Amino acid sequence: MSGPSLPPAAFAAPELIQRLRAAVGDAGLVTDPQVLAALTTDWLGKWHGHAAAVVRPADTQEVAAVMKICHDTHTPVVTQGGNTGMSGGATPDASGAQLILSTTRLNRVRQVDPINNTLTADAGVTLAQLHEAALAHDRFFPLSMGSEGSCTLGGNLATNAGGIAVLRYGTARDLVLGVEAVLPDGRIWNGLRALRKDNTGYDLRHLFVGSEGTLGVITGAVVKLYERPTARATAWVGADGLDHLVALLARLRTACGERLAAFEMMSHESLALVLAHTPGLRAPLESRHAYHALVELADTHDFGLGALLESTLGSALADGRIDGAAVCTSDAQSANVWKIREGISHAQVRAGRAIKHDIALPISALPVFVREAEAALRAADPAVHIVNFGHLGDGNLHFNVLLPLDTPPERIHHATLRFNGLVHHLVRAHGGSISAEHGIGQLRRDELPLYKPAFELELMLRIKQILDPNQIMNPGKLL
Ligand SMILES: Cc1cc2nc3c(=O)[nH]c(=O)nc-3n(C[C@H](O)[C@H](O)[C@H](O)COP(=O)(O)OP(=O)(O)OC[C@H]3O[C@@H](n4cnc5c(N)ncnc54)[C@H](O)[C@@H]3O)c2cc1C
Repeated sequence: MSGPSLPPAAFAAPELIQRLRAAVGDAGLVTDPQVLAALTTDWLGKWHGHAAAVVRPADTQEVAAVMKICHDTHTPVVTQGGNTGMSGGATPDASGAQLILSTTRLNRVRQVDPINNTLTADAGVTLAQLHEAALAHDRFFPLSMGSEGSCTLGGNLATNAGGIAVLRYGTARDLVLGVEAVLPDGRIWNGLRALRKDNTGYDLRHLFVGSEGTLGVITGAVVKLYERPTARATAWVGADGLDHLVALLARLRTACGERLAAFEMMSHESLALVLAHTPGLRAPLESRHAYHALVELADTHDFGLGALLESTLGSALADGRIDGAAVCTSDAQSANVWKIREGISHAQVRAGRAIKHDIALPISALPVFVREAEAALRAADPAVHIVNFGHLGDGNLHFNVLLPLDTPPERIHHATLRFNGLVHHLVRAHGGSISAEHGIGQLRRDELPLYKPAFELELMLRIKQILDPNQIMNPGKLL
């Protein structure tokens, strides 16, 4: 990692800039040093790079023209959407030789088909704009996360984003029907099919999902829409053990089936952190609990959702499986609990330097994993500040360690290596994954070979070699 500084635009060969300008016009080239500085640093402020230039093509044809130039000149390309990624995948390296291809001008919703329940859009359309476009046709696009005002469809697919609705609707991979992509040599692959059944061979769209910009540029996609849930019931639950929340999840699934839309967890420490760093939020329960959960049911009509939630939580309380619960009785109360959940990422940034572990485990293994991981971290450092929260309904924890804001970089580095080793060793022992939803990027690239079978990595490298023989797509990321 290098320190932040303005990018040296002079690194770019004038001839390359000239050819790019001819392809995308003046409006498609970013030269303002302030804008460049923002695009060469990631959202967390953790990675800083330099770029030869930033191009912002206006359509798929312009992306193809840019990629053809980059292929011919062997210019490395970092595709960037909303730049909200958590793994440094969209930040160029420090060489100043890499080109940022920003998708922000690929911003058209191309078609909404409410009968087929599909939406086709450019890759640079933000997730919030997709929600609005679906809503305008009385439809619902379920992918949802705290960054939705800025993150893009292309970024969501390239990272196979998760978020708060995976429990019911799956990840970005489960929501995509078709992909349009520009290959590294500038050829356009139009796979924009709006079909739920298509058994005509290998399903290439899934190669681009989770590819983190290493195989080509996603320029558009067809995604699934759903009936709009108009009724919701939301509750906040307190429990003194994580195993109690896991048991509650199973009980809610049995009682509520498909209506269970969210089951988000946070430890007492995570709740305290967000309340301390976010003005205007209130603790939903007066009593103190080791763990909390935000539970939400949703349906297209209100078939007594509130009563169903109340009775299910009531029976769990009566059995002693949970220790406190409050069903929200107003929109303001629901908004408050969701703000608490969504405020944790921002609170962490304000409170300290987070060593993040975005991990997935079988849900049944979560309680024992957390017990063992907390014990291992405390044995290494008795004063460790663990911030444990996440999408419990998907088996996805953000099992983070928070260091004080003034921790020297050297100490952060050593603590990161130490804690990563302890946590990820246990993740593997319990059959989990070291990246649930944030991807590999620069963050986990060096660790990936330790946790992914060598044969799988070899197959990934072979696919990369076929699609990107000049190795120009996002070098230094993922593989
Ligand atoms: C407050 C906050 C909350 C978040 N919550 C969640 C969450 O709940 N769940 C979750 O999964 N993530 C979450 N994230 C992470 C982030 O928002 C997602 O990873 C998102 O999908 C990234 O989209 P983006 O457009 O910002 O991509 P970028 O950050 O610009 O890029 C991410 C990666 O995708 C590649 N890429 C981007 N666009 C394209 C394209 N068109 N073609 C090919 N490759 C491309 C980049 O090269 C890079 O490797 C959160 C982030 C923040 C800041």
